[in-house]
Amino acid sequence: MQRLQKVIAHAGIASRRKAENYITQGRVKVNGEVVKELGVQVSKKDQIEVDQVPIYQEEPVYFMFYKPRGVISAASDDKKRTVVTDYFTDVSQRIYPIGRLDYNTSGLLLLTNDGDVSQKLMHPKHEVDKVYVAKVNGVATNKKLLPVTKGMKIEGKNLAPAKFLILSTDVKTQTSIVQLTIHEGRNHQVKNMLKACGFPVEKLKRERYGNLTLENLKPGDYRELHKNEINRLL
Ligand code: URA
Repeated sequence: MQRLQKVIAHAGIASRRKAENYITQGRVKVNGEVVKELGVQVSKKDQIEVDQVPIYQEEPVYFMFYKPRGVISAASDDKKRTVVTDYFTDVSQRIYPIGRLDYNTSGLLLLTNDGDVSQKLMHPKHEVDKVYVAKVNGVATNKKLLPVTKGMKIEGKNLAPAKFLILSTDVKTQTSIVQLTIHEGRNHQVKNMLKACGFPVEKLKRERYGNLTLENLKPGDYRELHKNEINRLL
């Protein structure tokens, strides 16, 4: 037995908070009857509907995936380009990515069908370190990258301070490899921060998400995560 709002959240259609609102607004039926109280327990056999649409109760599942470059972080695409879920043909649950990596960014992406966990991890206040490695144009110096540690304002948005490490520089090709650790997940954040310091990004990869690393995965591979691996991120 599970709480009704949790089951709705797990179906991937809403966060737990939104699911609670749906219930109190009278939009949820269990076995044909409107249920407005929170905390009602339901089993796998109960028929649940939200706004007259039945929801299927799936076991929550969690995966980490090595997203290759040139793949869209979504479960579908109107232009029929390759999306991350195309790699999960063996998985029957309706999973979707937790947040996004840009089309040409590779690296560690989490996927789930658990709306509640997904909302928690994507909340801007949720502080999990994400470690990126970027190949940039230009010879990086500590001085030039210092602004990232202070918190920057880009396109009117305040970005939290990040940590950086210059892994290598190459004067001949005028390129550098820089590691950047952030905990927010705004659109193009790493590229924007490095560009604002004078280092346009040529290539970007996410190597770590909290304590999870890509281990021995190859681009396009995934592995299922245990609930306790996810719990450590929450
Ligand atoms: N920051 C970026 O600029 N791109 C990504 O894909 C992820 C973080």
